[in-house]
Amino acid sequence: MNIILFGPPGAGKGTQAKYLVKKINGFQISTGEMLRDEIKKDTNIGKKIINDMNDGKFVSDEIVNKLIMSIISDPQKKNKLIFDGYPRTLSQAKNLDLLLNKSNQKIEFIFFLNVNKETIIKRIEKRRIIENRSDDDLNTILRRYDTYMDTTKPVLDFYSKKENFHEIDGSYEIDEIKRKIDTFLRV
Ligand code: AMP
Repeated sequence: MNIILFGPPGAGKGTQAKYLVKKINGFQISTGEMLRDEIKKDTNIGKKIINDMNDGKFVSDEIVNKLIMSIISDPQKKNKLIFDGYPRTLSQAKNLDLLLNKSNQKIEFIFFLNVNKETIIKRIEKRRIIENRSDDDLNTILRRYDTYMDTTKPVLDFYSKKENFHEIDGSYEIDEIKRKIDTFLRV
């Protein structure tokens, strides 16, 4: 079962992704974490993306698409993919379809965790203190939210027409969201 968790930064995608990983014995694909890792390791990609990441801008489709390619074609991870933060642009969504088709896979569930700006600001502020994430000062948070809303509208339009698309109110408590996801999965 492959699942996409979709929604603005701070909507709780990471938390639910980790829950799903345990539940279906899956693999979390967090492009945000992969990109932060590139920066930490000071790789060539890391050097290229550090400014955009710190400015709250999206990293280029080319870089992100390249990063996820090998994971999707990995036979051990086949049909156990939990996408957290990917795709974020229409080009990424189309690339994902292509890669999945190539390896005979599809997306079973798309969960859109929808949450308003105020809730997100409160949550990310809390996470900033707990996790000490460098890209999370308040201005960056607001820029990330706006960038997200501007850029992902076409992705939302692309997915919301599909019958495996489910919108969930992301302002609910974590356990409540888990329960709602469980209801859709029926597992
Ligand atoms: P996240 O941890 O998912 O909130 O992502 C943190 C940052 O990583 C974002 O603000 C973007 O700069 C970058 N990023 C993560 N995923 C993507 C993606 N799919 N496309 C472009 N940029 C991304």
